[in-house]
Amino acid sequence: ALILGIESSCDESAAALVRDDRTIVAHRLASQEAAHQPYGGVVPEIAARAHVESLPPLISAVFEEAGLELEDCDAVAATSGPGLIGGVMVGMVMGKALAMAAGKPFLAINHLEGHALSPRLDDASLQFPYLLLLVSGGHCQILRVDGPGAYARLATTIDDALGEAFDKTAKLLGLGYPGGPAVEKLAREGDPKAVPLPRPLLGSDEPHFSFAGLKSAVLRAVESGEHAAADIAASFQQAAIDCVVDRLGKALTEANFDAPITRLVVAGGVAANQSVRAALEALAAKHDIAFSAPPIWLCTDNAAMIGWAGMERFLAGDTGDPLDFKARPRWPLDDAAAPVRGAGV
Ligand code: ATP
Ligand code: MG
Ligand code: FE
Repeated sequence: ALILGIESSCDESAAALVRDDRTIVAHRLASQEAAHQPYGGVVPEIAARAHVESLPPLISAVFEEAGLELEDCDAVAATSGPGLIGGVMVGMVMGKALAMAAGKPFLAINHLEGHALSPRLDDASLQFPYLLLLVSGGHCQILRVDGPGAYARLATTIDDALGEAFDKTAKLLGLGYPGGPAVEKLAREGDPKAVPLPRPLLGSDEPHFSFAGLKSAVLRAVESGEHAAADIAASFQQAAIDCVVDRLGKALTEANFDAPITRLVVAGGVAANQSVRAALEALAAKHDIAFSAPPIWLCTDNAAMIGWAGMERFLAGDTGDPLDFKARPRWPLDDAAAPVRGAGV
């Protein structure tokens, strides 16, 4: 089977063609980073307009590169939430129109499900269930992934997402937007022990995450003028990693699973961070389970993961969503099994 995937939930416009044998036949991505850079963050209105302009040529390009046509697709999958609603609607409406034109099913994809299943696109040996750390610009969650549409959320953040904490730290250090990769790069030149920073909820009985206190401490460290930027970056990254490892360790030890968990998996933009990956790999080894992370480019937003999430549903016998499916600015992943059809905007 062949599926066209479309992504437009934030500041990446992307299109991809994926096959059921996990081949990414073609993929294209246009980042809007330059357009948002002057504002230090994503401006929803600018993002939506940019998706309108970028998506049609990207979609044409993947078909051209693959030597295939719309009619060759078995379904069209487009991100339909959560995210910036204007952009989500642009990609979703294009997906619906293409599906209708081709007379093929339309699959309304939860962007988080795209991230959650992305490790399976690269790794055919990764079986359900697995324990997933989903760390992105808007989310920080521990999930048990039982299959497409079947998620149990074990922990979430009570304030900021991890990617958001990286982005805010970058802004405080004057590193610009997007911040994660810049903080990681600068951290390589710093001492992770140089700046004493808090590790919110470390050792706490509740399973959740918190990063707001860490962010405030970074602000105070910057304002004190006593520390080199590289030391602050390295110390922030280490504090964040210590929190994540502690929380995941707790989930691995205490969570009651029906089936044994044999894999620890990380996905989402922050999964691109080498230090985060290394720390999680060590944690998995300590718990004697395998570790998986998607290739770096599949961690941040892309359309291959959206096409693949569609493929997982298609292969599971899903016949698609109605063409009046409403985009959902908020769409918790553990709702995916029973999406509220028609709810949302
Ligand atoms: P969501 O998926 O929650 O809707 P999003 O789509 O905006 O949010 P992603 O594209 O998955 O998020 O990830 C982007 C986030 O990942 C940003 O916060 C970015 O700073 C962070 N990020 C990207 N690369 C790295 C890195 N190397 N180290 C740390 N953080 C990173
Ligand atoms: Mg982005
Ligand atoms: Fe994302």
